[in-house]
Amino acid sequence: MAFEPKEPQKEIKYKEARIYSDAELHNYTEDELKKFKIKHSTPMCDDLEKGPWPSFVADAKRAALHRRKLPDNRMMIDRNVVEDLLGQLELSYEHGETHWKHGGIVGVFGYGGGVIGRYSDLQEQFPSIAHFHTMRVNQPGSYFYNTDYLRTLCDLWEYRGSGMMNFHGSTGDIIFLGTFTEQLEPIFFELTHVLQQDLGGSGSNLRTPSCCIGKARCEWSCYDTQDMCYEMTTHYQDELHRPQFPYKFKFKFDGCPNCCVASIARADMSF
Ligand code: SF4
Repeated sequence: MAFEPKEPQKEIKYKEARIYSDAELHNYTEDELKKFKIKHSTPMCDDLEKGPWPSFVADAKRAALHRRKLPDNRMMIDRNVVEDLLGQLELSYEHGETHWKHGGIVGVFGYGGGVIGRYSDLQEQFPSIAHFHTMRVNQPGSYFYNTDYLRTLCDLWEYRGSGMMNFHGSTGDIIFLGTFTEQLEPIFFELTHVLQQDLGGSGSNLRTPSCCIGKARCEWSCYDTQDMCYEMTTHYQDELHRPQFPYKFKFKFDGCPNCCVASIARADMSF
């Protein structure tokens, strides 16, 4: 039987939901990037740009230049967030210790999970990362995205957060890296009411379930992993959003013993 979602699914159109124009998204040239220097000296971070592999430092510098050239009213948190992040990272390498502190609980109304509070312990030196909260966004089943959806998420996070993301965290969520407390509710509203998109789990709750690509593409699948993942995610919403366990709990869905989402290694209950 074909999978049927429990409620009508909204199709997101980037041209209706977009925040930035093409000119704003492509606001620097490769020549400008070569000459670009962030405001802190970061020799050890710069070292991580060498070699043939992709570098998160190189990516961060692109993001920093992009933000440097956006007008003030096109970002809801400080434009220097990426530059301060690299500056603090450099100091962490130098001191051999982290400069993040976990300073209490932050979150959105009605949820006990989905946001991880993060603050800098060098707030005077790096004011734009005084708050640097992470948000976990429940990923689509088997990571099926379309570009309209991805670009809409990216615009939202550029506007209300640092613009930096991680696809994906080890549990499976899309990770939004770094925003201030005041931005959490507007982002949550936009995600849930406009994009029909929920937060994932964090803390001692049920963590975001994830599944292999299963019957959507794979001939080995013994059952519909996406259907199962969807059912379990919607059935255990309360456990996902309101931590009530002594420790986190994970389940993941592999369609066969090949174990592509590593359900045995990564989950407490594997299928
Ligand atoms: S776990 Fe099995 S069914 Fe799922 S994608 Fe891998 S090979 Fe296919």
